[in-house]
Amino acid sequence: MAYRAEYMWIDGSEPTREIRSKTKVLADGAEPGTWGFDGSSTNQADGDNSDVVLNPVFQCPDPIRGGDDVLVLCETLLPADMSPHPTNTRAIAAASLAKYADQEPVFGLEQEYTLINPATGWPAGFPPNGFPAPQGPYYCGVGALKIHGRDLIEEHTSACIAAGLAISGTNAEVMPGQWEFQIGPVDTVTVGDHLWVARYLLFRLAENHGVEVSIEAKPMPGDWNGAGMHTNFSTKAMREGPYEHIVAACEAMGALGKPEQHIRAYGVGIEDRLTGAHETQRYDQFSYGVSDRGASIRIPWQVAKEGKGYIEDRRPNANADPYVVSALVTDTICGALA
Ligand code: ADP
Ligand code: MN
Ligand code: MN
Ligand code: MN
Repeated sequence: MAYRAEYMWIDGSEPTREIRSKTKVLADGAEPGTWGFDGSSTNQADGDNSDVVLNPVFQCPDPIRGGDDVLVLCETLLPADMSPHPTNTRAIAAASLAKYADQEPVFGLEQEYTLINPATGWPAGFPPNGFPAPQGPYYCGVGALKIHGRDLIEEHTSACIAAGLAISGTNAEVMPGQWEFQIGPVDTVTVGDHLWVARYLLFRLAENHGVEVSIEAKPMPGDWNGAGMHTNFSTKAMREGPYEHIVAACEAMGALGKPEQHIRAYGVGIEDRLTGAHETQRYDQFSYGVSDRGASIRIPWQVAKEGKGYIEDRRPNANADPYVVSALVTDTICGALA
């Protein structure tokens, strides 16, 4: 019987990239090959030269449709010479991984997001007129007054597991309607592949629940936590110790010009989120420390105790492109440790 392949790719939307998808029906036994789309509708081409090539790079079972149906994540190529499209950030991550593969870079990304009630435009759990009680009881909370949208989160986690994604956990976050899932630990390219597919599954499943998912960095101004994509990172040397490799990685991230370069790549609106309050360091200051949630980079306490492990870059926004973040972190740390 024929089956469906959902082709997905990352578009050229500014300032935040979005995932797009369309369905191809394939004959039984046929493999999903290269395809194309109208780049003039996704900010990726002009109307008079609109074709962009879809090149499959990662495939998994489609947990929503089931059966033989599949999800096919693609990179975008220029038809003229099949070189990477200017918006193809995966190619940059792939080059970075190829260059430093001997150091075995590994990532875990914590994707925070906010469920938005389309009727009010406010986060789920915010009353139509006024505000919920201040932050405190919501993080990892239980109970209908604290928690909004758990059915969707459970569905999403099951879908990620069924698709074979490296999902490593979920939790309710500090602001009502705010949640997190984690992808990892996997390599520089795989973490972006799995995170983008996990985002797709989340947005797609949320359609059924009549809620919108926002990965905006600061969806509620004022005394409410922003949404980040904490980036946990290690190399083989950092995982094996001694501790000097952990310190060297932090120092590499703080080297001249690096903090500014990273902030520029970590997603739009980062100045609004990294204010120095709400468990962040300011965007224009760099620091690292053990267990310090007010630092740019946190060294987990177990890592300090055991003298080996990984570091957490707390700066990337929820709306960052994971390929851009993973490529830059790999280049900065592996480049310094090489
Ligand atoms: P937090 O305590 O900051 O909330 P989480 O438990 O949400 O941390 O996320 C930690 C992430 O770090 C997970 O995705 C996990 O897979 C990842 N991780 C664990 N070990 C490593 C490692 N050695 N290198 C990189 N990432 C790792
Ligand atoms: Mn977390
Ligand atoms: Mn979190
Ligand atoms: Mn974290």
